[in-house]
Amino acid sequence: MAYKPRTEREEIPILRSLKARMELSEEDIWNYFNLKKGFEGEVMFDLLTEKLQSECFILNDLLLELNNSKFQIDTLVVQDTIYLFDVKNHEGDYYYEKGDFISKSRKLMNNPLDQLKRCETLLRQLLQKYGFKLPVEAWVVFINPEFTLYQAPKHEQIIYPTQLNTLLKKLNMWTGKLNGNHKKLADLLVSMHLVESPYPRIPPYEYEELRKGIICSSCQSILPSVTGRKIVCGDCGCNEGVDAAVLRSVRELKLLFPDRKITTKGVKEWCGGIISKDVIRRNLNQNYKANGFGRWFYYE
Ligand SMILES: [Zn+2]
Repeated sequence: MAYKPRTEREEIPILRSLKARMELSEEDIWNYFNLKKGFEGEVMFDLLTEKLQSECFILNDLLLELNNSKFQIDTLVVQDTIYLFDVKNHEGDYYYEKGDFISKSRKLMNNPLDQLKRCETLLRQLLQKYGFKLPVEAWVVFINPEFTLYQAPKHEQIIYPTQLNTLLKKLNMWTGKLNGNHKKLADLLVSMHLVESPYPRIPPYEYEELRKGIICSSCQSILPSVTGRKIVCGDCGCNEGVDAAVLRSVRELKLLFPDRKITTKGVKEWCGGIISKDVIRRNLNQNYKANGFGRWFYYE
């Protein structure tokens, strides 16, 4: 179990929802797919580090700041050495040319080694500032089994998909015990973690301009109607109970508009008018706290 677990950044569900409800620019859509793919890669790496048998603190998804420079760490494993991992979920064939990572379609990847070195330097400075003397090893991890890098540099800090097992064996080899110093460091880093808010990569949006309706949980198309107690997606065939779909839509409304009061009427409108007020009221009563009175009645 990670000492600091990873949670999906709110940015991803917000963009997913906006993509279904308004026209996003190509850049926003690209950004959404990138964030989503990156997150999926990080979760894949978590599944591996969770299996470690040796003692360690695993800190996932840290956003830290030192001397006005922010840096993000995908995964940090604390033993007598501190392992910093930057996880990449690129797939397909890339070429390494004069320090650049280039895809077959000649697209350039942001150089992950430059990012890693910046992150490593800032982490070392932070450790020094707080008096921790543990050595740091930093690695870019390519997690996707379908990733290949041609003309790969031999001595760079890169772990390829075929080397993941060796990495885990190495981390498992440590027979030492965690002590107070390790814990002090883990607690310090967790306490320094910044919550990014508001998200800079989300385009501006207004309630009025968003398409209303219930979004399919699988393909994100807007669902046309309800049949009995189920909602069936005309596009992908996925089906979901009406109650679950209503509650999911309420969570989405709260995520996009945290200041908006939740009312039966408001939820009915948000769901595109396809759910009866009775069903909405029953779900809200069962899952949210009722507040206020008469026309000032709302749910928390
Ligand atoms: Zn669907």
